[in-house]
Amino acid sequence: MTQLAAQLAQLDDQRLRRRRRVVEGPQGAYLTVDGRRCLAFCSNDYLGLAGHPALVEAACAGAQEYGVGAAASHLISGHTGAHEALEAALATFVGMPRALYFSSGYMANLAVVPALVGGGDTVFSDRLNHACLIDAARLSRADVVVYPHLDLAALEQALATSRSPRKLVATDAVFSMDGDIAPLSELLALCERNDAWLLVDDAHGFGVLGPQGRGSAARFGVRSPRLIYMGTLGKAAGVSGAFVAGEADLVEWLVQRGRTYVFTTGTPPMLACALLVALRLIESEEWRRERLQDLAMRLHKGLAGTGFNLLASQTAIQPIIVGNNESTVVLGEKLLQAGVWVPAIRPPTVPEGTARLRISLSAAHSRDDVDRLVAALREVA
Ligand SMILES: *Cc1c(COP(=O)(O)O)cnc(C)c1O
Repeated sequence: MTQLAAQLAQLDDQRLRRRRRVVEGPQGAYLTVDGRRCLAFCSNDYLGLAGHPALVEAACAGAQEYGVGAAASHLISGHTGAHEALEAALATFVGMPRALYFSSGYMANLAVVPALVGGGDTVFSDRLNHACLIDAARLSRADVVVYPHLDLAALEQALATSRSPRKLVATDAVFSMDGDIAPLSELLALCERNDAWLLVDDAHGFGVLGPQGRGSAARFGVRSPRLIYMGTLGKAAGVSGAFVAGEADLVEWLVQRGRTYVFTTGTPPMLACALLVALRLIESEEWRRERLQDLAMRLHKGLAGTGFNLLASQTAIQPIIVGNNESTVVLGEKLLQAGVWVPAIRPPTVPEGTARLRISLSAAHSRDDVDRLVAALREVA
């Protein structure tokens, strides 16, 4: 106990203790936080679907039809017609043979990697990959080679010299804290040459990138039996959960041996009902992606010449690198006092010395909202 207290005190000293703010009401551009209304740039609700009335209605109708809980795992009695319909729609949407719906992206990655590789095999992992890909690799007991961020020459070298019987390359498609995009065509070509799987985590690309929001793999037009595509459904899709798409045999193997799929209660069917509507909106409402692009351009123009170091991101994730933990937190607090909420992201979420304000834009924002953010940033600079 005293040891934990000391460790917590150390977090305070380093300004690394995190506290949760309490939000009331649905997600949107404006949130009521700890009782105060503010303009928020925190969420991954990139298309503004999380509070959409059509999704709420579909979830309610789904609860009426199926009840709330799935009551058992998918392999026992927790797999419904709504789950089946969603998986078929997801596979069609991303243009892959089969898809499997998981309770979260974290769980999906924890299923895929240990189901495909084990002791003596090797996972090749980009240094900036999301925590759940890192944990998935550890859980698999495979050897792990961490290659420098997007360094394809280093990856090629490591793949070519590996003697492992099975190899898996894991990468974020859009890196969650930088907003940059992995070159999937080149990565897939490397995997083909070196007989490796490519696991693409498209948490931030699904719904946002590619034609009709079909995701990063569609954006690059990559297809291959070696490609394993993981898209999450709690971000742009506005609901919850994730899916893995790939060859039919691969997906069937995950149904049989993906431990976080087999040994967990099925997801509430009402979520699948809401997601079927979300997919239709993602596909048909191009204006949401157009607005995101427009807002990103406006933000860049607005901050030009201010000395803020905005990364050259083409996605909804628009981080400003500050560096020092303390300064980042202070900036975040000042913005919040001005009624604008931008999260201060610190290590271990990002590498030491790269603490940042992570602005995330949403189609729920208007141009006026972005102008207000720019004005607040100029004020606190
Ligand atoms: C958010 C995120 C996940 C986890 O997805 P959840 O559905 O929230 O568990 C996985 N990978 C990346 C890159 C993410 O940003």
